[in-house]
Amino acid sequence: MPELPEVETVANGVNQRVRGETIRSVWFSSKREPFKTPSSEMAELLPGRRIDRVYRVGKHIVVDLLPGGRAAKRTVDLQWIVHLGMTGRLLVSAAAIPLPPHTHAVATLGSGRELRFVDPRRFGRLALHKPTADENSSEGSGRKAQGRFRGPGTEPLSITGSDFIELFRGRKQAIKSALLNQKLLQGVGNIYADESLFRAGIRPRRMAGRLTRAELLSLHSAVQEVLKEAISLGGSSVSDYVDANGEKGFFQLRHRVYLRTGEPCLTCGAPIRRIVLGGRGTHYCTRCQK
Ligand SMILES: [Zn+2]
Repeated sequence: MPELPEVETVANGVNQRVRGETIRSVWFSSKREPFKTPSSEMAELLPGRRIDRVYRVGKHIVVDLLPGGRAAKRTVDLQWIVHLGMTGRLLVSAAAIPLPPHTHAVATLGSGRELRFVDPRRFGRLALHKPTADENSSEGSGRKAQGRFRGPGTEPLSITGSDFIELFRGRKQAIKSALLNQKLLQGVGNIYADESLFRAGIRPRRMAGRLTRAELLSLHSAVQEVLKEAISLGGSSVSDYVDANGEKGFFQLRHRVYLRTGEPCLTCGAPIRRIVLGGRGTHYCTRCQK
């Protein structure tokens, strides 16, 4: 499943290719699952709008849309929210390239290129979010303006150390599970939770609320370091993840514990152990992580 670095890579790639384009027309498949907002509503509201920019919020890709035509107002009054789910891909393609199987949405752009949403397993979701005019004007134009799509939790890349500590205070839950809770930190998934805990030297089963301040600060740095490193390498290619260009990411070459069960720890040589925690495969070093 794409996590924060992969979603950020895709969002940035798409942004570079479609920013400023107008959506000329849209097409949707007849499947129901991908459409959190009914496809009929999207078909009515999307055509004619201009793409202001594309960016990531948590694990969502957000497409900010401006009214079409020569409207003087440059107020984002509609947002197209894309969640890639397990196998979703958002591609920018020349119209001449045949539609891949499992294409569920196509937006034809002013340039003739197409923004395509492809998802074989159909866990991905497309939705519209409407920021209210009031909320838009009261908060200025920043992406955090009230009313804009914000996602369920806090952004792991911008959270401060003290807010990070606060997030886990009193939590009677394994720290690994707390890291995966999107209502706390949004965007951290299985790979980056395991990798961050390894770098911070913390065992995944430790109860979140019992970690010391120093441990949480070290985890805070580890989470940000791992995510930034992965973004700079274009994310991790496990399963079907590819970015907007179809390029694979390379962070998996840097994994120190994830999917390295039985292989020697790169720090101490002990075999990496795999357990199942909260239903998720969890990888750690029994020697380096306390
Ligand atoms: Zn080790």
